[in-house]
Amino acid sequence: MLVSDLINLLDRLAPLSLAQPGDNCGLLVGSSSAPVEYILVALELTQAVLAEAEERGCDTILTHHPLLYAPLRSLTESDPREQLVRRLIRGDKNLLAWHTNLDAAPKGLAALCAEALGLRNLVPLERAAAGWYKLVVFIPPDAVPGVSAAVFAAGAGRIGDYRECAYALQGTGWFTPEPQAHPTVGSASVPERTPEVRWETVVPRARVGTVITALVEAHPYEEPAFDIYPVEDVIPRAGLGRIGELPEPQEVTALVHTVVERFGLTECRWVAGAKTRVQRVAVLPGSGRSLLAAAAGLADVLITGDLGYHDGEAAAASGLALITVPHGEVEWWALRQWAVDQLRPLVAEQGSTLVLSASYRPLWQGSSLPSPDRAKAGKGAPARVRLRVDGGSRGNPGPSAIGVVLEDAEGKVLDTLSQAIGVATNNVAEYRALLAGLRMAQAAGVQEVDVMADSELLVKQMRGEYQVKNAGLRPLYEEAAALARGFRRFCIEHVSREKNAAADELVNAALDSISNPGSDRPAITGLEKTFGSDGDTFAT
Ligand SMILES: [Zn+2]
Repeated sequence: MLVSDLINLLDRLAPLSLAQPGDNCGLLVGSSSAPVEYILVALELTQAVLAEAEERGCDTILTHHPLLYAPLRSLTESDPREQLVRRLIRGDKNLLAWHTNLDAAPKGLAALCAEALGLRNLVPLERAAAGWYKLVVFIPPDAVPGVSAAVFAAGAGRIGDYRECAYALQGTGWFTPEPQAHPTVGSASVPERTPEVRWETVVPRARVGTVITALVEAHPYEEPAFDIYPVEDVIPRAGLGRIGELPEPQEVTALVHTVVERFGLTECRWVAGAKTRVQRVAVLPGSGRSLLAAAAGLADVLITGDLGYHDGEAAAASGLALITVPHGEVEWWALRQWAVDQLRPLVAEQGSTLVLSASYRPLWQGSSLPSPDRAKAGKGAPARVRLRVDGGSRGNPGPSAIGVVLEDAEGKVLDTLSQAIGVATNNVAEYRALLAGLRMAQAAGVQEVDVMADSELLVKQMRGEYQVKNAGLRPLYEEAAALARGFRRFCIEHVSREKNAAADELVNAALDSISNPGSDRPAITGLEKTFGSDGDTFAT
């Protein structure tokens, strides 16, 4: 894959035309014809991220925040940004930024945050301007197929999920060639009336130049007549922020709790609004000050970053509740989901690898110091892990096994377990997997756990949404709940089986080894330590 191919993939997910005016997205350093094998995704480029890219042999770095925003006036070693550019060039690395266009994309960062909070009926808080131009060109009827094909190939005519969109209308073209002209139709100095088609289509802002070049080349006339003008239009599914509804109205404090838990935040503050219970929620990762007034008319509460005292004052006066979250933490959370779920599969199809940076550190530190307990337990262990758990039985009840993958916050695999557990039901196996995973996290001295499981029953029972009526599951549930209370944070999420493939494979490996005793694979293959290896190769 070349950098230009990566740009095309990225543009499909989050078109550059969605970027805010003045933003600087796209390829910032490097060459569009350079090969891409190994991509590092980070929130922004720092010396630590660049050192990581060098160490891991990444040729390309994709960040959310653009390194080059304000213009550079020199390329010396005296300025940190200039140093980074020099180091990128010395290492022949490509740097791309996908920023406000990624926030705004239909499945971009704002949408991911809103979905994670369980909001329904999502619409953008501020709809994106289409960034389109309308092209109108007058073509002799027999040349329409050739001209339209050239214009489409140059990037015109795409609206949402439709391509080659245009409109044609028959009419009559009027012109009189000057004596020195070389007309395709008509003769010098004779007024001409000839059938022409008024053919119109849309062109993204970035493609206007390419499209006009293609048009002029393909058009049979010496002087093709065409107009190009900006269109005041919006894209309904894209834009800044998202607004949606919670299934039920809830206290702001309950929502604060969910926000902290879902995004794994180190801090979160709020201002109460006019309503004690909120249902219409606006969320905007990054800095949302500019949309405070817009949110006040539409939502009960706005969740965003970088808010100050006077923002709280203004919101309180308008009745809008505010939840202010750390800018970088929420963005990094959303960027990771997007990169792993949406970009990584497309990159992999083209034979390249995408990894998440391990260099992210919250910029702002909280005021609370770690407890002595935590400091003791946390030696060498990550504060937070993700547990992927799965249990299954062949027969229900039948021979059963469990699979657990313990990952750090960046998705690096720290530990795995693949173990046969005798005869059990599917649900018992699911609980046994959760218990084993929680014990692994506890033994590692971890404080915060995010569990992912594909059993809806397990997830809903652990969340208290379903009762545990089955007598066989009750003690397992009690034990898991007690273990869960021992963590400073315990969060459990339902994921599809495909997204839990890593744990599912471990279950099947253990089941295969018992049903095939001649195999040399032991029934218990767990606890393979993979610390320090490249854990990003896990299936998600
Ligand atoms: Zn940001």
